[in-house]
Amino acid sequence: MPSLSSHDRHRLHLELQQEEFDLLVVGGGATGAGIALDATSRGLCVALIEHGDFASGTSGRSTKLIHGGVRYLEKAVKEFDAGQYALVREALHERRTLLRIAPHLTRALGLLTPLYHRWEIPYYMAGLKMYEWLAQDRTLQASRYVSRDLALKMCPMLKKEKLRGGVLYYDGQFDDARMNVALVTKAVQMGAVAANYVSASKPILKDGKICGFEAVDSIDGKTLTIRAKVTINATGPFCDELRAKTDPQASKILETSSGAHIILPRSFSARESGLLIPKTDDGRVLFLLPWLGHTLVGTTDTPCSLSHTPRATEEDVAYILEQLSKYFSVKVTHADILSCWAGIRPLVSPSSDASTAQISREHYLEKLPSGLITITGGKWTTYRVMAEETVDMALGDRAKKLPSKTATIPLTGAEEFAPDTESRLQKEFKWDPLVAKYLTRAYGSNAFKISELADLSQRRHLVDGHPHLEAEVDYAMEHELACTSADILCRRLRLGFLDSKAAEKALPKVNAQLAKKADWNTKRQEHDKTQSLAYIKTLGRTAK
Ligand SMILES: Cc1cc2nc3c(=O)[nH]c(=O)nc-3n(C[C@H](O)[C@H](O)[C@H](O)COP(=O)(O)OP(=O)(O)OC[C@H]3O[C@@H](n4cnc5c(N)ncnc54)[C@H](O)[C@@H]3O)c2cc1C
Repeated sequence: MPSLSSHDRHRLHLELQQEEFDLLVVGGGATGAGIALDATSRGLCVALIEHGDFASGTSGRSTKLIHGGVRYLEKAVKEFDAGQYALVREALHERRTLLRIAPHLTRALGLLTPLYHRWEIPYYMAGLKMYEWLAQDRTLQASRYVSRDLALKMCPMLKKEKLRGGVLYYDGQFDDARMNVALVTKAVQMGAVAANYVSASKPILKDGKICGFEAVDSIDGKTLTIRAKVTINATGPFCDELRAKTDPQASKILETSSGAHIILPRSFSARESGLLIPKTDDGRVLFLLPWLGHTLVGTTDTPCSLSHTPRATEEDVAYILEQLSKYFSVKVTHADILSCWAGIRPLVSPSSDASTAQISREHYLEKLPSGLITITGGKWTTYRVMAEETVDMALGDRAKKLPSKTATIPLTGAEEFAPDTESRLQKEFKWDPLVAKYLTRAYGSNAFKISELADLSQRRHLVDGHPHLEAEVDYAMEHELACTSADILCRRLRLGFLDSKAAEKALPKVNAQLAKKADWNTKRQEHDKTQSLAYIKTLGRTAK
């Protein structure tokens, strides 16, 4: 049975260096993890390395929608843009696939758009009917007109003045970081070697061709030599750095833009659904979504520089609050914000000088003269097709004989997932409904494993008012490749992203539990505590 614990670095180093892999994937976000699973399930021998933790990049900082993008469809129609149209159709097809292969991590979500002009009602209804027709997905409810009264009942905070009604349509929602981890753990279960905190530093080149990477393990400082027949650059916003290392003459392909979100208490969300504000001052859409018992609001679009810990700025937050004030009768203030964070969009450079909001989210796949394959751009929703195309390119003529299987591979937690999981957890383990729902949605069928662990000793909550359990700490370390307290609190449990103060409170407990389990010395334990606290604080305060 492959190990899903990241703590035995010695074993990990041996595995990474013992053989020549068919594929070395650099970057453990949605794209890299998707590629690792696609390639491993086609029978290839795969190594996956990630600079930080899995999903610590853009893939853990998205708006958490699995969607075709109604805004992109509008653009496709207005501009007769066949490329955009194909992108929306492909993403809608993928939406259905993801709802199927990870039913515990994904769900249909109603999105209400409040409308303040009568003409908007037929305009939006026509657009949404087209969106539905493109999706060809009868598992999601049909879009419909919502009267003014019903819109106000669904979202009592909406401004009443001039409100004409609304339209309600359905898209998918998910937990991005947990989906990322589910992809990695599935790939490992199927034979891949995956290591977080290992950064590709120097390409190994022979006659100008790439044969792998020297990489540095930031946990113990060791340098590793990882050899592979094909190397894939899935470093998202960082992909130009790797391209420049292997092919110094390659020109830059990316623009980067930052998108910020704020988290508010659940009471700010519409009942049962999210809210889509179709046009902000700069022509973007703003989402206000119920997410893991809280309200997620975003996003912005501001050109930015590269960073492994991008942060929301004071201007980002002010902008979001200002947009909300235009639609809400209740004032939302800084004091309501529980967390705020940003992600960096890897946007493939346009030929024109369009603003970043207009650059297509389509992906970009290339093979440089060194043989380095780069895949970037795209959306979370389309990671699976991006992975399939990348592995096809790596396989060349062999791709036809070894087709992708990922459309039918259930992700970790989905293998034996049953719709009655939540009620069984309540009955068999006496969890209260909130904990049962939380465990089901985070772990799927593995919620029973956590409950068994918890049944023995760790039924205690990490922090009051949140469903997270002590038992999850051990589980994250042993079964989900978590290395640090921040990995656990921010990406396995999501608490840091939801409520940074609560995560700070939980930190000493998590750190002590990890130190005991991993047998850390005092120095290592203190280092983890300081670093994790600093990381969690970046999710609680805006950057200057
Ligand atoms: C604000 C925002 C909201 C979004 N919302 C949505 C949404 O709702 N739905 C949707 O479908 N899409 C959404 N997207 C798009 C989606 O999140 C991205 O397209 C996707 O996450 C990109 O994944 P990736 O794996 O390519 O990049 P990343 O997740 O950034 O992964 C790249 C990884 O490479 C690692 N790396 C970098 N250098 C090295 C190195 N030298 N060695 C090893 N590893 C390295 C990084 O640490 C990083 O983890 C959103 C994007 C943003 C910014």
